[in-house]
Amino acid sequence: MPSFRPLPSSWGRPVGAEPLFERIALIGIGLIGSSLARRVKRDGLARSIVCCARSERTRRAAVELGLVERSFADPAEAVAGADLVVLCTPLGAYRALAEVFAPRLERGAILSDVGSAKAIVLREIGPLLPAHVHLVPGHPVAGTEYSGPESGFAELFDGRWCILTPPAGADEAAVAKVAELWKRCGMMIERMEAKHHDIVLAVISHLPHLIAYCIVGTVTNLEELTSSEVIKFAAGGFRDFTRIAASDPVMWRDVFLTNREAVLEMLGHFTEDLTALQRMVRFGQGDKLEEWFTRTRAVRRSLIEARQA
Ligand code: NAP
Repeated sequence: MPSFRPLPSSWGRPVGAEPLFERIALIGIGLIGSSLARRVKRDGLARSIVCCARSERTRRAAVELGLVERSFADPAEAVAGADLVVLCTPLGAYRALAEVFAPRLERGAILSDVGSAKAIVLREIGPLLPAHVHLVPGHPVAGTEYSGPESGFAELFDGRWCILTPPAGADEAAVAKVAELWKRCGMMIERMEAKHHDIVLAVISHLPHLIAYCIVGTVTNLEELTSSEVIKFAAGGFRDFTRIAASDPVMWRDVFLTNREAVLEMLGHFTEDLTALQRMVRFGQGDKLEEWFTRTRAVRRSLIEARQA
């Protein structure tokens, strides 16, 4: 893991660039929240940043690392005076937090988030908000397997996609402002319906994570047969899966619980394909296996060409 020095206390706004927001309140300041804070601070995208976190340790770290001016235990106190509030906690914490801070949101404030599933935000948070608050959910599709405020870095979002999923009838000026924030964080912007986002992400992110968690679990369960050789000889394939399967357990528990339907649907497709591959192996269908692997190799090449690998 890279090591980080505290940021200088002076705000690093480029001369002449106006901040987009007066005050950003980050509810949760782990990998994603702290990366956003670092970028906002580095490029002067807001006049001030405050945060809320559950533990005293994280609240202290956020201040000591120079990420925020103040950190609060009470989410309602954190959102007071903020023109942008961004939920950066695991999805399972959203509802209870929003119940506390929603009545204290400023008139005209924007509420956004960074969660990996999006239908839940419209379903659970939307109804809690006062009419004078603009909801613009978002998902910066960028991350690492590390967690906590020390693990973030300002360049995390560079060259990656940010998907915005505003509800029908959303305030377009608010959507444009959130889009501009992520653009200035180095991201490319895509707009989608929340349900469509959840299906797309189930395919490209949630299913691969579930498979990685499964494979590493299965290999570990088989360790009795192989004794310590799993760790000793861990080669490319298994080693790559262990990186993904080291992702935060709470965050991923919540992703699967909140995007249950789409994940189960994609898992159905996956198990059918796995059975097809199983048959090819069982019946020695080398030509079919080779054809399959040639197709998947081409996927890797197109990812590299699209600069997403
Ligand atoms: P993280 O590093 O584990 O940080 C989570 C933060 O939320 C911590 O500051 C934690 O505070 C705080 N928190 C948790 N429960 C809370 C509560 N009840 N009240 C107040 N604060 C609470 O997580 P992350 O990786 O940044 O993920 C945050 C969100 O980003 C998730 O919704 C995830 O789906 C989304 N996301 C993650 C990735 C990724 O690769 N990691 C990528 C894109 C989007 P304490 O430290 O005090 O517990």
